[in-house]
Order: sequence, then structure tokens, then C-alpha cells
Amino acid sequence: MASRVLVVGSGVLGLRTAVELTRRRIPVVLRSPVHPLHPSNCSQGAGGLWMPFHCDDPRTDRWAIETLDEIYPFAVDEENLLVRLQYALSFKRTHEGPDTEDFLAKDYHKGTGGKSQLPSWSTDDRLKFQNMTLEQVAWQNIVYKLKLPSLSIAQGAGYNHAWFFETPIIDCPKMMESMLEEVDMDPNDVNVETGVYYESIHQVLEEAKSLNCDAVVNCTGLGASKICQDSEIIGGRGVLLLYDRETCVRLPHPKAEDPLLAAPPEQLHDACIMVESSPWGSDEYPCYMIVRGDTIVVGGTYLEGDDEPAMRPEERKRLLENARILGVDTEASKPKGEWVGHRPYRPVTRCELDSEVSNNGLKLVHCYGTGGSGWTVYAGVAKDATDLILAPM
Ligand SMILES: Cc1cc2nc3c(=O)[nH]c(=O)nc-3n(C[C@H](O)[C@H](O)[C@H](O)COP(=O)(O)OP(=O)(O)OC[C@H]3O[C@@H](n4cnc5c(N)ncnc54)[C@H](O)[C@@H]3O)c2cc1C
Repeated sequence: MASRVLVVGSGVLGLRTAVELTRRRIPVVLRSPVHPLHPSNCSQGAGGLWMPFHCDDPRTDRWAIETLDEIYPFAVDEENLLVRLQYALSFKRTHEGPDTEDFLAKDYHKGTGGKSQLPSWSTDDRLKFQNMTLEQVAWQNIVYKLKLPSLSIAQGAGYNHAWFFETPIIDCPKMMESMLEEVDMDPNDVNVETGVYYESIHQVLEEAKSLNCDAVVNCTGLGASKICQDSEIIGGRGVLLLYDRETCVRLPHPKAEDPLLAAPPEQLHDACIMVESSPWGSDEYPCYMIVRGDTIVVGGTYLEGDDEPAMRPEERKRLLENARILGVDTEASKPKGEWVGHRPYRPVTRCELDSEVSNNGLKLVHCYGTGGSGWTVYAGVAKDATDLILAPM
């Protein structure tokens, strides 16, 4: 049982782990090179969509559901601005051709061994997940009145079905602020200091001793490749354009092509759209829109091993095209900003006790490598890391 813990890294995993430790009345020292609210933190710029994405650890779905348990009450609370519940639509194409009965069959969830098997998280009732043809989306939208791209154009492009569900969108900067406040206000001994960059895990352990900490949680994300010489962690580079939600002009609703969708613009609601298959998107170049707080986020890329820190002109051009496809009037609206981040991807998330290093009364737990799902799994991962810290040696 630890009596004082050094948490290294102030992304979502570091902050949420610090929060978890303080909730369990363990004094915490938090150290990181930049302030938790600095935009260079991967966790600050992320889309905030709850949906497992490029996180292949077998524990992902459990962590995701545990996180959903934590954020869902916020999402359904009208007064709470940290998390909003939103409809999400992921356009799909299957080469076998659409088979309505198969798409809608309950058994589909149990797995048919086919390529288009649904993910297990989709069975959670809170998400109201449905796999439907685009015609069915059009019919449903008479009720939902969502701002969607033209379904006829989507059909023409070869998309023949869509995942349609309701999911929480976390306002990442606001949630980071709220977690920092909780840590800062904790009556226990909590000490947050930025401007601290460690060169090696050895240096971290020495620092822990000098700070009278008997445990360390390493939440350094991609930084672990250097301090732990972890060759398995790799950056999945992502680029985003940011639009102001209030002033962003949306293309006229495609009444002509989709008469069922016709509704006055003021009656339409924002939706998150995700496309990971051609021609609009692909694994490496997903085309998506996430409406997060006062910002519309348009992405993106998922390029492993690409460490370019700035947006390339051709990427900006592609994002503008994505924005247009997804319904932004790119002539009338200019982005308010852009962002480049590197998802800390590891084939298996490193949430484990380092038994080689943990001895002589000092315990080291690693907690990094959540890829494109850090905000989807953060509460579950932070709780596991805390359990490991508090378990008897
Ligand atoms: C474009 C993009 C969109 C995304 N969208 C989503 C989304 O919609 N939903 C979702 O669930 N996830 C999303 N993600 C993924 C999510 O952002 C990450 O999984 C998550 O932020 C990882 O959190 P972390 O705390 O592990 O890492 P980070 O936020 O990177 O934090 C790591 C911390 O460690 C510190 N550090 C690094 N090296 C050292 C060192 N040597 N010494 C001390 N401190 C160090 C850093 O300064 C930082 O404070 C997205 C990511 C990107 C790039």
C-alpha cells in the first residue's frame, strides 16, 4: 500500500490517475514538462468522442464501459457541460452487399465470423446502437433531424449501411480543467509542478525517493519511448481543423436528394460523422466530424510513425474537402484553428506493475499506450493503475 505517489505526465491518464489516488486518500505529487491545460498535450486537442478506435488491448472494451459508467451521468445531465450526448453515424460499405435482415439481427452482435461483425461495446443499451441501411437512416432522420451529409451522395459513393448510435462527447479541455481543479482542491497533500522533464526512468525513481514517494505511476504517453526505451509505443499522427460551432455555416440541407431529410436548418441537430472506408475515408485517412463544446472538429489522419509536428499543406487541403463532404460551407466558413497530435499507440496498452524495478519499498506502475482511445478508456485505465499501486507487493 503506497503512502505517497509520484504521477509523471499530466495528460488525461496522469490527471485521472491523480484524481483516483486522491479520491482514495493517497497524497499525490504530479510532475510534467508542460501545464496540463497546454494545447501541446495530446489529451487537450483530442476529439473527445467515446468510441474505441485504434486501441487493440483486450481490456479496451472493459475500460471503455467503465469510463462510460463514469461519464454517462454527466452526459444525460442537461446542466453539465463537460460531456454531451450526441448522435453518431459511421458510414460503412460491405462488399457482400447490404442484407437488411442480417444487419438488424440481434444475433449479429454475437459474431458471425464475417468481416462486418459488430464490436462488443455496441451491445451496451445506453448507446442505442443500430446497424442500418442508408434508407433506414433517412427514415429515422424524420424523427432525429440531424445535420447529415447527403445520403444520396453517400449511397452513390458506395456506402450501404451505417452504425447509428448515441454517444458521449467529452469537452476535453474543460474536463482536464475540472480534473485539475479536483486535484488542486484536495485537502490531502497534493503537489502539482510543471516544467519537469525526465530523461530516464532511473531519474524518475531517484526523484520519487527525494520526494518521499514510495510509488510511481508512469503516464508519459509517447514520452515512454524515450524514458523506458519502449520500442513498442509509436505515435499515430492526427490532424484536425477546428471550426467555431456558432458561426460555422453549414451547406444547405440536401432537400432535393433526400426529401425525407427536409427540415428547416434551425430544427436540425449536430451529429458526429465517421467514415473509415473509401472513397471518403480510409484507415490512414479517416474522414470525420466531432462536435465538441463550442468547436466543430474535422479530421483526419492516423499515420503511424509520422512525427511531423506541423500540418502539411496537402493535409489542410484534404481536411477542407472532408469538411465540405460532411456539410461545412467551406467558402463561407474559415477554420478558427488547426491541431496536430500524436496518439500514443501500443499493441497492448502498458497498464502493469513493473516487477523488475519495483523493489526496496518503491513500486512502479506503467500507464500508457491507449492509442486513439485515451478519452474513451481513461477512467477504467486510471482505476486499474490505482488498484495496482494499492495492491500489496
Ligand atoms: C487527432 C487526435 C484525435 C483524438 N481523438 C480522440 C477521441 O475522439 N476520443 C478518444 O478517446 N481519444 C482520442 N484521441 C486519443 C487521445 O488523445 C489519447 O489516447 C490520450 O490523450 C492519451 O493520453 P495520455 O495521458 O496517455 O497522453 P498525453 O496526453 O500525451 O500525456 C502524456 C504526458 O506525459 C508527459 N511527458 C512525456 N514525456 C515526459 C517525460 N520524459 N518526463 C515527464 N513527463 C513527460 C507529457 O508532457 C504529457 O503531460 C485523439 C488523439 C489525436 C491525436
